[in-house]
Amino acid sequence: MSAHTPREPSHLRSALQPREPRRPRRIAHFDLDSFFVAVERALDPSLIGKPVLVGHAGARGVVASASYEARKFGCHSAQPMAQALRLCPQAVVVMSGHDVYGKYSRQFHDILNQTSPVVESVGVDEAYVDLTGTGPEVGGAYAAAQDVRRRVREELGLVVSACIAGSRTVAKVGSDRAKPDGLLEVPVGQDAAFLAPLPIRDLPLVGPRLGEALQAVGVRTIGDAADLDARWLAAQFGKAGEALAQHARGIDHTPVRAGGREHRQISRENTFGQDVTEVEELRRVLQQHADRVGGDLRRQGRRARTVSIKVRWSDFTTLSRSRTLDRPVQATAAIVETARDLLDEVVRTEGLRPVRLLGVAVSNLVEDQVQLSLDDLGSGVAGATAADGSARPRVLRDEELDRAIDGLRARFGDRSVTRGL
Ligand SMILES: [Mg+2]
Repeated sequence: MSAHTPREPSHLRSALQPREPRRPRRIAHFDLDSFFVAVERALDPSLIGKPVLVGHAGARGVVASASYEARKFGCHSAQPMAQALRLCPQAVVVMSGHDVYGKYSRQFHDILNQTSPVVESVGVDEAYVDLTGTGPEVGGAYAAAQDVRRRVREELGLVVSACIAGSRTVAKVGSDRAKPDGLLEVPVGQDAAFLAPLPIRDLPLVGPRLGEALQAVGVRTIGDAADLDARWLAAQFGKAGEALAQHARGIDHTPVRAGGREHRQISRENTFGQDVTEVEELRRVLQQHADRVGGDLRRQGRRARTVSIKVRWSDFTTLSRSRTLDRPVQATAAIVETARDLLDEVVRTEGLRPVRLLGVAVSNLVEDQVQLSLDDLGSGVAGATAADGSARPRVLRDEELDRAIDGLRARFGDRSVTRGL
């Protein structure tokens, strides 16, 4: 071998060096214990130990949250306040308001954001945090989570429970198990074993209907579901069955996405002062909501693939319908059109009952890029003209109108421009 053995260029050499083994995923789910009640007690310690109902006391008030002491009497969230007070007349009714809860929620998220760069908020009081990068040199994920719990207690006077595991699903199941005031870590590789003895309904994706269907075929625990053939589950329950086969075995590769809920859905809803039974009125309100939602999308430079509506009947049954579109939309007109279709579908399949609450949401958000397909250009390309004599594609005209209205509202206020039906 000559003295001048050619050496690999430096970039190749570094690529050839053995890689550091990949660290196992460590995902934490943090969930504040009885958030609304806890905030009220942090503000007024005389409420500690008493039955507390958070919500508006008025005739149409609804319980947003009930303390453990009140739950013993049968009170629970989403219950009409009047009914809760009949069950537990000695309960204290409080409602500090969204500004106050929002402030606590932001402080909670600030602490999480100082712990890891990858925090995904999934509600005012819960978030996923990727702690994979929190290596042993700083005590690892467990020490990081303990530190969050200590800070939340000291700085906010609230209690947060948490679980660290190999995936979001397992961390979420575990944080429920950790309550009250607990921290659980599922050791690396033990996710499936941890889940196996737990009731099937503990899995977030198993709602009441799927739960019943699974019970009917003898599935009681998550382990029972893990023992079933994945193809059989998929054949029986479609997409939910496919996901169930994975989750029951502790497999869930869904990443924690920095940012979280505020980026994933935009919605508007209202509770009517009096239940509404007129379809025309519902359509009018849908349009207002869709208009606001569209305005938010345009301000954020985003488009949405999925449009949903939410309807709550006077008996509190709540249903939602959604539709995923071929192309992401941003124009108010497109959101209104889909929302109205969905409302028609509800009326057709469920009949029309007195409506208490109505909402519109968009999700599946993508960054704004004008994506015109040949459909949009349609008649324009063919050289024909639209009904109003213009050859412009309809989507473009809708968006120009939206831009003009958004501009006026930015200058003269939200109520300066109202759209016709
Ligand atoms: Mg909570």
